[in-house]
Amino acid sequence: MKTQILQIDEHSLRLAKKILTDGGVVAFPTETVYGLAANAYDSAAVESIFSIKGRPNDNPLIVHVHTDYDLSELVTDIPEYSQLLAKAFLPGPLTMVYKSKQRVSAAVSCGMDTLAIRIPSHEGAQRFLRYVDMPIAAPSANVSKHVSPVTAGHVYDDLNGKISLILDGGKCVGGIESTVLDCTNEAPCVLRSGLVTREMIAAVVGECDEYVMKDGERVRSPGMKYKHYSPKCQTVLFNFDNKAEAFKYYHEKISAGVAAYLMCDDSVVQEFDGKNILNLGKTENEIAANLYDKLREGERVADLIIAIAPQKQDGVMVGVMNRMKKAFG
Ligand code: AMP
Ligand code: MG
Repeated sequence: MKTQILQIDEHSLRLAKKILTDGGVVAFPTETVYGLAANAYDSAAVESIFSIKGRPNDNPLIVHVHTDYDLSELVTDIPEYSQLLAKAFLPGPLTMVYKSKQRVSAAVSCGMDTLAIRIPSHEGAQRFLRYVDMPIAAPSANVSKHVSPVTAGHVYDDLNGKISLILDGGKCVGGIESTVLDCTNEAPCVLRSGLVTREMIAAVVGECDEYVMKDGERVRSPGMKYKHYSPKCQTVLFNFDNKAEAFKYYHEKISAGVAAYLMCDDSVVQEFDGKNILNLGKTENEIAANLYDKLREGERVADLIIAIAPQKQDGVMVGVMNRMKKAFG
């Protein structure tokens, strides 16, 4: 299969709709990462997403809809706090999980009775969702366990020959996957951290839990149990307080002929005297936006990525640290 990368326009959208209507899949941009889209009503198409990605079949997909979509088509029991959160953060990188009306394919939620809904803010994503006029089931458009894609080129590197169309909407500005919020209980609960932080949610609705798995408990957001985001090279992660050790380790490896690269934020770059650097940037939003791009750049050039965790550990950095820990094993 030949894989085309096309800018989003009338021609590529018409082609995308035809592919989806015929039971195929297409990649599309969002403000977080690129997604791999299928018609959520089409079980065979949804199942093909799992096989194309090599995704475990107990890791559910998110349904993406445009801003005017009537959610009562798909889900029920939408709590009042969700409506407040929708006003504050949507369209945007916040996915909310509700009780499903079980109208879409059962494969989307891997047989669970809940459905995760996202309304992306990316202009190209909105245009796409409106044009195809169907709820779109999508995970990230990468091979399972690899680093999520934040450019059309990243999608191509992973899925070339496996899908026929990638809609190109430029580099994703968010950089890490959406916050996933369980809205099936009295208070919202963060299942996966992201750019809309627990603090931001609590500021709107008064309280917000964060899911921590207890021994023997069933996983509530199944995707979170898997190894993820891994670059194809060796990796090691140091705490911010151990950055001197990380520098020392870098120099030892360079002396031993290893192509080692230091991944850290800009403040640490200023203190570092080596030359192989993957600079994550200055602000917390820059760090989130650059993380996957730098991991993919790193795996191309490095034998070993030595990362130093950011000093700040709250807010958006909760989501960044969660991905870093998984990427660096
Ligand atoms: P991905 O787009 O690859 O990051 O995967 C979507 C993620 O959303 C999954 O890995 C889950 O963690 C989460 N998710 C999707 N549907 C549900 C659901 N019904 N309940 C809880 N979490 C969900
Ligand atoms: Mg993913």
